[in-house]
Amino acid sequence: MKYITLEKNPNIKINKKIEYFYNPDYIYIPFDNKAKINVDSLVLKDMPLGEGISSVSGKILGISDVYNKQNKTKALVIANDFREKCAKIKKRKDNIDILSLVKSVSLYDEKLFNIFKSLNKVERIIINAIDDELYVANNIINFKENINDVLEFLDKLIFLYKAKETLIVIKNTESELIEECLDIIGSYPLIKLTLLENVHLLSQKEFLLNKLKVSENNTLYLTMNDLVKLEKIVNYNLLDSTKIITICGDLVQESKVIIVKKYTLLKNIITKYITIKDNNYILICNSLINGFRCNLDLVITDDINVIYIMKEKLVEEEACIKCGKCLSICPKNIDIVDHLEKNKKCKLCLKCGLCNYICPSHINLTKVLKGDD
Ligand code: SF4
Ligand code: SF4
Repeated sequence: MKYITLEKNPNIKINKKIEYFYNPDYIYIPFDNKAKINVDSLVLKDMPLGEGISSVSGKILGISDVYNKQNKTKALVIANDFREKCAKIKKRKDNIDILSLVKSVSLYDEKLFNIFKSLNKVERIIINAIDDELYVANNIINFKENINDVLEFLDKLIFLYKAKETLIVIKNTESELIEECLDIIGSYPLIKLTLLENVHLLSQKEFLLNKLKVSENNTLYLTMNDLVKLEKIVNYNLLDSTKIITICGDLVQESKVIIVKKYTLLKNIITKYITIKDNNYILICNSLINGFRCNLDLVITDDINVIYIMKEKLVEEEACIKCGKCLSICPKNIDIVDHLEKNKKCKLCLKCGLCNYICPSHINLTKVLKGDD
């Protein structure tokens, strides 16, 4: 396993000042086109609807075509009445035990349920607050926004699972973001903050645990975003109605971190907050290395973290010049050229996209190694 450092693009400026977009006129909840809809019916915030849970109160206007990640789909259009009338009263639970925690999680989040359902002995809790994307710090920002609730809840987890060691892990390049939180963190003596060097792929569990030299056995591993979500589910039986996204890129006048209502349309966010320097741009979602092209009709769901607005570069795939850059960057030390020459797949490949990113011949190497785009 190899750790590499990526260089930043000097044309992408970072600004971590937070904006809040809690009052979109409409939200767009992806839904199964076969489901019956009642136009003009009232919707409450936190009400299950389509493939999600409404993040506003209002009424159903009809349906519209949108993009849910890369897929074109139908969405229920909800006109926001700005009243925030909730389907549930936000009431904090007093007593939480492991059984009630697992039960709450089973109702709201499959991924978290899979983590907690078979958890027995917990020696340590690792909270990964690292984002691999060079221009993104959504995990840390989410922590800062919810710091008191999160630390209190983490303390409760330590007590429930009798963990001996608990670490919140961040990159040393992000320490200034967290400086103003140090006093609060210091008042939880069982929680330690660990700073790691700025290398790529630490957002992945395998790479982080290896770097920390800790075994996966008896480790409760969560990302910070998971922990923030878990706190709301367990303490309130609620899902967060908001999402943090970063919008940046070489054609963005001023990058922004924006907390938006889930299911807001990207178009509405960009119109309100972003000045684009040139009309000839492309939108890339989640990563410049292995993200995907998107358009303005993208709906902001839990899976969307960053939107890059970039100059369009027309590149053509050329023959391999055997420069060796792909091998030198591959975290799994795969002999990529050999696989390319023999058109051979590779089980070890993580599909991290670093080889594609570095290849001067613009060869889609992950397609060769994994057999898809
Ligand atoms: S980086 Fe691209 S051009 Fe260089 S050896 Fe690898 S495949 Fe060939
Ligand atoms: S995507 Fe490329 S760099 Fe990443 S593991 Fe696979 S072969 Fe290696």
